Formats: sequence, C-alpha cells, structure tokens
Amino acid sequence: MITGETLLYGLVAHPAHHSLSPLIHNMGFDQQAINARYVVFDSQSQPAAVSQAIDTLGIAGINLSMPYKQTMRPFVDTLSPSAQLSGAINTIKNDNGRLIGINTDGDGFWRALQQASPMQNRAQTVILGAGGAALAVIEAAASYGVQTLTVFKRANQTYPQVAKRLAKIATTRHITINLYPFDDEVALQQTLATTDCLINATNLGMQATPGFPIAPRLIAQIPSACLCADLIYAPRETAFLKTARLTNHPTLNGLGMLVEQAALSFEFWTGKTLVTAPIYAALTEENKQ
Ligand code: NAP
Repeated sequence: MITGETLLYGLVAHPAHHSLSPLIHNMGFDQQAINARYVVFDSQSQPAAVSQAIDTLGIAGINLSMPYKQTMRPFVDTLSPSAQLSGAINTIKNDNGRLIGINTDGDGFWRALQQASPMQNRAQTVILGAGGAALAVIEAAASYGVQTLTVFKRANQTYPQVAKRLAKIATTRHITINLYPFDDEVALQQTLATTDCLINATNLGMQATPGFPIAPRLIAQIPSACLCADLIYAPRETAFLKTARLTNHPTLNGLGMLVEQAALSFEFWTGKTLVTAPIYAALTEENKQ
C-alpha cells in the first residue's frame, strides 16, 4: 500500500516505457517488505533538470539509461571509482540530498556470466562495440578473470577518446586492452581464432536495429568452446546468438545482466538482497505474453 512514508525510486530514460526495471525492483520491495515503489520517468529533460528534480522531490534512487548515463555524471556529488573510469553511471542514490553515482552494469554482466557458466574460460575476451555498456563491462573485466581484452569499434569521431579511456582503464586495472577499428578484418579474424569469450555490446540485433555485429561466416570459425554473449535481451535470442547456438557455441543473452545490475542497484539503495530466482521466473513468464 502506498502511504505518506512510501519512498520513490525510478528509471529516467528515453524511451523508457518498455522497461522491465519496475517489475524487478517492485518485486524486490515486496520481497523485503520495504515501503517503496519504482516507476518509469520517460524524460527528455536536460540532465541538470533531472538532477534538480531528484533533489527537489526527494526521490530516493534513480536508474539511468539512454541518453543519461554519460550526461548525468557532472550532476552528482560523488562518483564511485568504477563510474569515473568507465565514464558512465546507471544508478544514483539520494543520500540526504547528496547524490552518489555508481555503475552496476559491468559487475552485473560478469556476475551473470559467472552464474550461468562458472567454468567458462574468459582470459582472452573480445568485445564488439565501445559504447556506455561496453565500457562498464570492460572496466569490470579484470575482476572476473579476463587477462586480455580486444575491443572492436567503428573508426568514427569518438574513436580517439575511447582509445584514451581504454588506456586509462588498462593502466588502472592492470589488464591488457587492444583497440581495433571494426573494419580491420585481418585483426578481427586473427583475434577471433583464439578467443575464449566474444561479447556483442553494439546495438546490432535489437528489435529496432536488427542485424549482425560481425559477418555470420566468422561466427562459425570461432573456437567451439568460446562463449558468445550478447548484452541485448529483447529479443532474448539475437541473430548473432542464434547463429552461435547453431554452430554449437555456448551462448548467453543480456537478461542475466539486466537482473544482476538491478540486484546491485537494489542492494546499494536499500542494503538488502534482491532474491533473483523469482525475478527470472517472472521475466520468463512475461516474455511468453
Ligand atoms: P551506446 O552507448 O549507444 O553504444 C552502442 C555501441 O554500438 C557503440 O559502440 C556503437 O559504435 C555501436 N554500434 C551501433 N551501431 C553500430 C554499427 N552499425 N556497427 C558497429 N557498431 C555499431 O549503447 P549502450 O548503452 O552501450 O548499449 C549497447 C547495447 O547494450 C544495447 O543493445 C543495449 O540494449 C544493451 N544493454 C543491455 C543492458 C542489460 O542490462 N542487458 C544494459 C545496458 C545496455 P560507435 O561507438 O562507433 O558509435
């Protein structure tokens, strides 16, 4: 029941109405008997206005998605070290008027992988794309057994600044990171020949942007023990994952990352654990409708 004491949490993004986060967090509040609700704010306001709204209305916590993960950074009071390194935040806690920004995407992805495939070798990992989510996954990688990360990204205007950020992450996290332009087919083929784990962190394969991040013929050439993972969860199986499954590779979609990053945000806000088994069951049920 909503009372005068009910705390308000939410997602600020655009578009946002498709989000599964209200289902996840409201189940968590019910599990833990926390008097709080999570709603969606589909917003196109300036980041400064969003920050002010959180403060003025006393919103207890916020998740951020497109287009706010990078642009909200200057409008919080404190940034966690991993949010600083990755350059993005996906979670804000309102601590008595002080806004604290963290990023749970990277740990969320690797925790999901660890749970789904605990024995999976990931020493040599390849990431396709270097946007906000990819950088969070890259920043956290060293804590989860990755030794060398090879990143492929389009050679566009953001290439030099991404190269700089990757160099900073490599030095700080003591990990080897190589960056190549997406159209360097030789580097792509050579790297894929020895990869343990291949992650699609581009938008390619989403319902709105269908397609493959790499040519399907290359997927067949990847070592058979290589895990093919996609950050995308809608659809649950992208064309990339379907091809990987049909060429007998283990696969992982982005649903686990969605749940685990939410669990970490929930814990950061409330100090309580989100029990994830019923959440996975509810999301599977929701996908059938
Ligand atoms: P983003 O910051 O916009 O980054 C998108 C990336 O995709 C960029 O590296 C971009 O390349 C690349 N890209 C787009 N079109 C491309 C093309 N035609 N060819 C090659 N590369 C292309 O988005 P994001 O927030 O990182 O999200 C990336 C994906 O992760 C999305 O599908 C999103 O739904 C998913 N995601 C999932 C979760 C989860 O919980 N499972 C969480 C966050 C994000 P450039 O850098 O060259 O522009």
